[in-house]
Amino acid sequence: MSGRLYVVATPIGNLADFTYRAVEILKQVDLIAAEDTRHVKMLLQHYAINNKLVSLHQHNEENAAPGLIEKIKNGLNIALVSDAGTPLLSDPGMPLVKLAKQQGIEVSPIPGACALIAALSVSGLPVTRFTFEGFLPRTSSARKTFFSKKKSETATWVFYESSHRILASLEDLLEILSGNRRIVLARELTKIYETVVNDTLDNVLDQVRNNGNMQKGEFVVLVEGAVVEKNVSEISEEQKRVLLVLLKECSIKTAVSMAVEITGARKKVLYQAALEMKGSDNE
Ligand code: SAM
Repeated sequence: MSGRLYVVATPIGNLADFTYRAVEILKQVDLIAAEDTRHVKMLLQHYAINNKLVSLHQHNEENAAPGLIEKIKNGLNIALVSDAGTPLLSDPGMPLVKLAKQQGIEVSPIPGACALIAALSVSGLPVTRFTFEGFLPRTSSARKTFFSKKKSETATWVFYESSHRILASLEDLLEILSGNRRIVLARELTKIYETVVNDTLDNVLDQVRNNGNMQKGEFVVLVEGAVVEKNVSEISEEQKRVLLVLLKECSIKTAVSMAVEITGARKKVLYQAALEMKGSDNE
């Protein structure tokens, strides 16, 4: 009978953020595959978990995964943990889980802390749609290219950043986005110096520049999605035609009022479109 692979979330700072089930599973399994065995020992000691450990990190996971899968096929249950939070989220584990799925092995999540989700939940930004970008490129030019691609993203977007690069990353962000864009800096979540700042990019950058403490620790950065301006290309062809004819005969104000009556489109949208049409007449 094949065993099972458990993907177990561990705390992201506060050791109390660990579930009863996670403790139970880590006690019961035959083997724990850990990103850093020395690091996880502190957590295991805290919860009186005595179990066998094997190392599975980004440099050995491709090679180590098949051996662990063999053990599971031979009936062992294995738990996968990373240094903090949910494995695979900017952490090792992907090759092992992928191989397990390919081989028809049951993979069960033991959910818990994740910096991304914790930050989203307190950010005050829309969370119905978001994209997670993991860690950003290390060089400034690659970061700016990345930010340029994300500039028009309408969903909230989130990335992880280290204390070494937080200031440089925000400076790069300001070169690409307007200083009025709302961002959230979620720092040291669940720890003593937990700070969550929700403000314009300009104001957040000011705080980080002027307060050395704001450059320390671990960070999740969240960026509010771009606001989509309704413009001429977003009204229907028929609405466009009506507006154009009216604009030839009347003022913008009258043309828009009449177009609202005729087409039923929203006044604000038609007004914006009319301004753009007039603007392109003048060019
Ligand atoms: N797997 C983890 C998770 O579920 O969140 C993330 C691991 S990733 C290697 C580590 C990064 O996550 C840190 O550099 C930081 O950007 C973010 N992070 C982890 N713990 C955090 C915390 N307590 N507060 C803010 N950010 C944190």
